[in-house]
Amino acid sequence: MSEGPKWLQCPICKESFNWELPVEALKKVKRFPAPVIIKHKDHYLICYLDSHYQLADTEVAAAMVESE
Ligand SMILES: [Zn+2]
Repeated sequence: MSEGPKWLQCPICKESFNWELPVEALKKVKRFPAPVIIKHKDHYLICYLDSHYQLADTEVAAAMVESE
């Protein structure tokens, strides 16, 4: 199980950035993949993490971008 910062490529601006795993929040998660909302600059991403805290999927949080 890997903890600590992860590199992620933003699907919106295609920029790679370092992202800290919300380890404490993930410890309370009972079901995986768990969606985690990440703010990057002025947009939001939804990352799905599996039970090994590996990135299963990344999604653009379109609804949240529109409501900003
Ligand atoms: Zn971005």
